[in-house]
Amino acid sequence: MQYISTRGETPASNFDDVLLSGLAPDGGLFVPENWPQLSAEEVAALQGLPYPELALRVLKPFVGGTVPDAALAGIIDGAYEHFDTPEIAPLKQIGDNEWLLELFHGPTLAFKDMALQVLGPLFDHVLKTRGEKVTIIGATSGDTGSAAIEACRDRDAIEIFMLHPKGRVTEVQRLQMTTVPSANVYNIAIEGTFDDCQDLVKAMFNDQAMRDRLRLSAVNSINWARIMSQVVYYFWAGLKLGAPETHLSFAVPTGNFGNVFAGYEARAMGLPIDQLVIGSNSNDILTRFLETGTMEMTGVTPTISPSMDIQVSSNFERLLFDLVGRDGHKVASILDGFRDKGKYSVNAKTLGTAQAIFYGARFDDDETKAIIKDVYDNADELIDPHTAVGIAAARAQRRDRSVPMIALATAHPAKFPDAVEAATGVRPQLPDHLADLFEREERCTVLPNNFEAVSTFISEQARGGAKA
Ligand SMILES: *Cc1c(COP(=O)(O)O)cnc(C)c1O
Repeated sequence: MQYISTRGETPASNFDDVLLSGLAPDGGLFVPENWPQLSAEEVAALQGLPYPELALRVLKPFVGGTVPDAALAGIIDGAYEHFDTPEIAPLKQIGDNEWLLELFHGPTLAFKDMALQVLGPLFDHVLKTRGEKVTIIGATSGDTGSAAIEACRDRDAIEIFMLHPKGRVTEVQRLQMTTVPSANVYNIAIEGTFDDCQDLVKAMFNDQAMRDRLRLSAVNSINWARIMSQVVYYFWAGLKLGAPETHLSFAVPTGNFGNVFAGYEARAMGLPIDQLVIGSNSNDILTRFLETGTMEMTGVTPTISPSMDIQVSSNFERLLFDLVGRDGHKVASILDGFRDKGKYSVNAKTLGTAQAIFYGARFDDDETKAIIKDVYDNADELIDPHTAVGIAAARAQRRDRSVPMIALATAHPAKFPDAVEAATGVRPQLPDHLADLFEREERCTVLPNNFEAVSTFISEQARGGAKA
């Protein structure tokens, strides 16, 4: 499998280069040259497989040729060993042909583990094969940091430095990062905001000398291997509900468009998906686009579903590429205009293509709490605020009640206990493997919002990137 860039100026690349570089050299995002196709018979043949086996079958065409099958099987088996249920992603009925797919049974209680638990060992494998090491630097406002740390901990070829804004992540989020006792994990609390953290990371990547010396790398949400790994659970849920004979619809609480894009990918591969419903909180840029054909940036409003508090959905570029007939130069010119003017519009035909698959709906915090309460009262399930936005959107946009609607549950309710308690009066409890989280020892360095201080600290601590 070869990968091409959404901006059309990068030569076709192999999986391992795509994995390690994240962003394409022309500034675009990598996508497969062609979508692997599964016939109805091939989809049917996947029925009943355990999750890791299904993952191996679905992911092989994307990785094959670069990572040998036996190594890939080992990576996938290891990735899902640390989930707290052998089902990996349990599917529960919560209403009239309405289902909840729980994607929060991994080590850090959010769906990001579904992909990052695969990404960490994949990185390690490819680096060791090449005799290379990397230093991963990231900024987090909460969920991504802990999932990335869990993915990279104790891996010889990786050191990870995670910046978070001091005092501005929840206590559970901070503890999930700072209590990991691995020598290759460094937490830095910046005296500043999340934007300050992001600016520091950007500045370090722009410092060519530092970038080369430490072989800086990232595992952020545009990394193709993350999208790729997420396609598996769409097949998993679909097969359980009778695909390929049965058609399906999915509802996805959406921020950077990575999760729902994996649903689009599953559809492109042959899973019979009717609707992909996007749930937006008050940061509704995608829902507005689907209503008007105009993508327009506004400010970010903080909500009780903070992992969707985004200004721009970076992975949307991958869909845009398909919408404009895979013309990379067109994508580049649209996005150049977007950077300058803060908005762009597509024509009616392009919008119609998107609207045939994607549906959007927005909900503010009060509406989100009302859904949390409704699902608790009527289905006896505690759900987190992100999941609630997805369910609300599913209910608002559902077209055909004979088609199962599967809402993705993206976080464990105990990750957002205050919002859940405010809605239901019940405080959700952390699962057993995190029950002693508050007693664990923390390791974290507090640094000022200052490039010199942070880059010096990282340079001193890092074992030295490429010197493998
Ligand atoms: C990251 C995240 C999302 C948004 O997912 P995208 O792939 O960025 O659209 C939704 N819910 C939770 C709990 C998350 O952590």
